[in-house]
Amino acid sequence: MTDLLHSTLKQYFGYSEFRSGQTEVIAAAMQGQDSFVLMPTGGGKSMCYQLPALLLPYVTVVVSPLMSLMKDQVDSLQAMGIAADFINSSLSRDQVVDVFRRLRQQQIKLLYVAPERLLQPQFLERLSEVGVSLFAIDEAHCVSQWGHDFRPDYIALAQLKQHFPQVPLMALTATADPATQQDIRQQLRLVQPYTSISSFDRPNIRYTVQEKFRPFEQLVALLKQQENQSGIVYCSSRKKVDELYQQLKNKGFAVGAYHAGLTNEDRARVQDEFKRDHLQLIVATVAFGMGVNKPNIRFVVHFDLPRTIEAYYQETGRAGRDGVAAEAVMLVDPADIARMRSWIQAEENQARAEVTMQRFNAMAAFAESQTCRRLVLLNYFGEASQKPCGNCDICLDPPKGFDGTVLAQKALSCVYRVGQSFGMHHVIDVLRGSQNQRILELGQDKLSTYGIGKEIGHDYWLSILRQLIHYGMLQQDITQHSVLKLLPAARPVLRGELALQLAVPRLVPAKTAKQAKE
Ligand code: ADP
Ligand code: ZN
Repeated sequence: MTDLLHSTLKQYFGYSEFRSGQTEVIAAAMQGQDSFVLMPTGGGKSMCYQLPALLLPYVTVVVSPLMSLMKDQVDSLQAMGIAADFINSSLSRDQVVDVFRRLRQQQIKLLYVAPERLLQPQFLERLSEVGVSLFAIDEAHCVSQWGHDFRPDYIALAQLKQHFPQVPLMALTATADPATQQDIRQQLRLVQPYTSISSFDRPNIRYTVQEKFRPFEQLVALLKQQENQSGIVYCSSRKKVDELYQQLKNKGFAVGAYHAGLTNEDRARVQDEFKRDHLQLIVATVAFGMGVNKPNIRFVVHFDLPRTIEAYYQETGRAGRDGVAAEAVMLVDPADIARMRSWIQAEENQARAEVTMQRFNAMAAFAESQTCRRLVLLNYFGEASQKPCGNCDICLDPPKGFDGTVLAQKALSCVYRVGQSFGMHHVIDVLRGSQNQRILELGQDKLSTYGIGKEIGHDYWLSILRQLIHYGMLQQDITQHSVLKLLPAARPVLRGELALQLAVPRLVPAKTAKQAKE
């Protein structure tokens, strides 16, 4: 048996070894057992059903959520000489009839279908006539309401077991938290599934979190380091994607934009040009990625904080699939975290808001973590580990503390002197003794705190203020244009009763920021 598996692997795919986890899952499928496969993106999930499909007598039906993905996979399988085909709404009636004709003649080994199609009664009927050897449910987390990408179409897949009690079902996903896993097993009615859980570590990806100061300049500095390498920049909204795309284009980058507001043709074209290295960069919303199977993506930048660790992991996981070193850089503004939390709280459905908040809090904790990023990620996915990785910003450049009492006192008393009625940038201008019109008009150049923070740069102060917010000494009042207000915890510091340890800000190197301005 193992010989046959190896020779088939070599013959069709050209690989000499299975990756960890694959052999056991394949063996389970060959023996007719259900299975649950949790493997990170790029881990080689498809092989788990593609290889048994070649050896089993009848067709293997693969349920896959995205049409574009389907055609891609089928094209590349056919190119390897594997009898694969797909049925979805892009086919004409005649084409569907033709696929069924070939199915009846046992000429198709792998059939890709969209979930809504699979569950049409007529379709099920015809499938049972031709015989099915295996069902593979790709992106199986879409069946779970606890997952981050629930698709109502997937719910109906629970019926598969009723219609085909004898046919083994393989559920595959890269989404990992234990509650979702359990839900997938239940929703799909898996019977004593063989369970395979692989490590989520992607050692070649370097995780870095940067504080957001001047995000566009920070991004350009990064892009210059990554000269001519392929990369993706994720933003939180379509509007931001469009803006950033224009800005980068104006700077002369070979960039494409991708979001759900664009036409199918535009999206397909951008994806294709990126794949063929005609575009270096894609600026995108979360809509971009599921079908991207480009091995040489060297970096993924998060211009905004994702909503969940799952999303972050999947998006960064698109980098470095070839195993060569890759970068995952995230820009974080603590104010975005606060804003996101208030949006989530405003959600009407309280139960849903709670789940969303928990997931978001884990993401925020990753961003704010002072310990190895990889440990935070792996522990989140239930892979306990205590050994720092040596390949993240924290491991490579551990945060340094310093006695920030005096700086904190200056900042807090300045907030007080300006009447707790101004935002961060204004307070910093006063601290730094700026000559700006508004300050002069308001007579704030006469304040005792005017110019007492001259020796320190704007971004440095920004980071100090953010830390004071983090410590609960200052608050940005979102009901009043984010003006800074003092909180009770500020009092002992102002009175000199408490020494305050702060982290040395990690600034953007001044040189690159200036280069970026040119
Ligand atoms: P996933 O669906 O888990 O994200 P894929 O199935 O797309 O990952 O596989 C990722 C890459 O790994 C593909 O290019 C695939 O050909 C390759 N791959 C899969 N199995 C093996 C193997 N045993 N040896 C070498 N490469 C493999
Ligand atoms: Zn680390």
